[in-house]
Amino acid sequence: MEISFIGLGRMGWHMAGHLANRGHEVTVYDPNNLAAKTWCSTFSGTVSTTLARSCAKAEVVMTALPADSQLQQVWDTCFEHLAPGTIWVDHSTTSAQIARELSAKGKAQMVSFIDAPVSGGTVGAETGSLTIMGGGDETAWLKIQPIIECYASKTTWLGASGAGQLTKMANQICVAGIGQALAEGLAFAEREGLDTKQVLDVMRKGSSTSWMMENRSEAMLNSEYNFGFSSTLMKKDLGLVLQEAQQLGMPLPVTEVVAQLLDQLTTVADPSWDWCSLMEQQRQAHQKNES
Ligand code: NAD
Repeated sequence: MEISFIGLGRMGWHMAGHLANRGHEVTVYDPNNLAAKTWCSTFSGTVSTTLARSCAKAEVVMTALPADSQLQQVWDTCFEHLAPGTIWVDHSTTSAQIARELSAKGKAQMVSFIDAPVSGGTVGAETGSLTIMGGGDETAWLKIQPIIECYASKTTWLGASGAGQLTKMANQICVAGIGQALAEGLAFAEREGLDTKQVLDVMRKGSSTSWMMENRSEAMLNSEYNFGFSSTLMKKDLGLVLQEAQQLGMPLPVTEVVAQLLDQLTTVADPSWDWCSLMEQQRQAHQKNES
């Protein structure tokens, strides 16, 4: 299958790599030329220097981009170059609205747009064990499902266009509170002078265990955040969630608080760091109260 993969960031790099390793003909594009060239020297594939060229021959176009605005820009540049029958699989986390709009525009030219946001973090992307939430035309979904299984252990079609993004929003609502609660629990254990390794060992077997605890607690205790899911992107996700909830007239009190904490985070943590750097804010808030 000829695949154009656009966006070789922390997630896309690995996902495109899995496709190449499974024998797909992959053409990659990223405005960061160095990333694209390094990808090509690591995996078997072709680098394209322009967006338009990257997707001209593709049967499937895949995107893993930061947000709505980058997706819209890439779509606007590529759309006229797509052949009828092309399936566009978007792995970015975006609004449900843009997924519905691009799906409707695509349909007019026999291009299927599938919203397919992912969960499982960079480790899931690297190990090929992501969870993928799909929305859009079901026939197109069934065609691409075996391809995305190259980097996913769970792939589910959830309904019409936008359903994948709405499911991802539900996921982010659930994880937001867990991340901040983990920061509070670990900072509390530190402050009480407990052996935090032992505390974690106990909690992992107890009722507070979670994906965040398994995958982030050690980084939080060691203050090592230069990896993973940036706080900039998490802030964007919670913004999307709060906008959608506002349209429903639904209050999300915990999500709102975590969004505010992420807003303040830039004063103590680099925005490119994983959002579990909320831990630093928790530590500093305590130190401020003490002085
Ligand atoms: P990233 O910032 O590491 O990568 C984004 C890539 O897109 C970069 O390589 C950038 O150069 C490229 N890009 C930016 N603008 C572009 C444009 N106009 N045209 C082409 N390429 C462009 O982000 P990421 O962490 O890989 O996340 C990608 C998407 O996946 C985001 O929507 C994010 O919310 C979602 N996501 C990330 C994680 C994670 O753990 N990192 C987990 C789940 C979902």
